[in-house]
Amino acid sequence: MNKFWTKAVKEAKPYIPGEQINQPNLLKLNTNENPYPPSPKAIKAISEETGDSLRLYPTPTMDSLRKAIANNFDLKHENVFVGNGSDEVLAFSFMAFFERGSTIKYPSITYSFYPVYANLFNVSVDEVPLNKDFTISPEKFFNAPGGIIFPNPNAPTSLYLKLEAIELILKNNPHNIVIVDEAYVDFAETSAASLINQYDNLLVIQTLSKSRALAGLRVGFALGHPDLIEALIRMKDSFNSYPVDRLALAGAEAAICDSQYFKETTQKIINTREWTVKEMTELGFEVLPSQANFIFTKHSKHRGEKLYQQLKDANILVRHFNTEPISDYLRITIGTDADMKRLVTYLKSII
Ligand SMILES: *Cc1c(COP(=O)(O)O)cnc(C)c1O
Repeated sequence: MNKFWTKAVKEAKPYIPGEQINQPNLLKLNTNENPYPPSPKAIKAISEETGDSLRLYPTPTMDSLRKAIANNFDLKHENVFVGNGSDEVLAFSFMAFFERGSTIKYPSITYSFYPVYANLFNVSVDEVPLNKDFTISPEKFFNAPGGIIFPNPNAPTSLYLKLEAIELILKNNPHNIVIVDEAYVDFAETSAASLINQYDNLLVIQTLSKSRALAGLRVGFALGHPDLIEALIRMKDSFNSYPVDRLALAGAEAAICDSQYFKETTQKIINTREWTVKEMTELGFEVLPSQANFIFTKHSKHRGEKLYQQLKDANILVRHFNTEPISDYLRITIGTDADMKRLVTYLKSII
């Protein structure tokens, strides 16, 4: 506390990101980063942009990247907003679509940045309880006048909500905004982006941090009706004309256009996930049916906190949430085959 702090600073409850430890031989499976390098075409594009052009501001409208993203989803560039990581896009979305003093809905177990934004932007929250098996009942999100936000697949549960269920939520909220945070959707069945031309209340948010292996570049985007996109642009231009720098614009566009590399690495991660689930299940772990690049798992005979600590002592970092009812679960990012063999071999030695 300091006498110069405003009320907003005093009352902020900042997000605590996963530990970013750097030490040799550490197997980092705690922040859902991609184990493969970014597309070589993205690296090349970033290198080529590193030069005299950095004297100049980037284009504030980011048209070229927006067109590339639009092409990828069969949409128009008016349907696309780009920001400095999807966390920034989420923040602009809270400002643009959730009225101060209103009450929004999100799942009781979900991405822990949402409560941070709710607090920062002065909206109340009606947390929607999940079912015992952590699934979402779409009916519980019907008629939510303040608006709705949820990740699909949900984090940290890894569970995917089918497109039909999302459509039900959209149909039963014709006057309310529905934000679907698809950070992990490339590892799942299908994106709700295909519904954008049908529903003017749908905003889909994606990131290049997970499936495109560019967490360090900080690029995320939103897809929606042009009026929703215009609202986000108005927020961005009231805050920072250039949140996405030249290197990020160049790298992101090349990464989006390299669909072959993207498909190969994504499929490898899905295959490794399925192998990991099988091995862990044989060790007596209960693993939720993941459609993400991480799994959410517990063992009936081993406490989550102890397992987390044992793994950490063995130089394997996973994520543990010390809150009920998930304190016995571990969230484990899917790495390479070799990474997951190291994890499973170690678990075999202690289970
Ligand atoms: C990782 C993640 C994000 C944030 O991604 P950035 O683009 O790196 O800011 C947003 N939502 C969920 C659910 C995530 O897991």
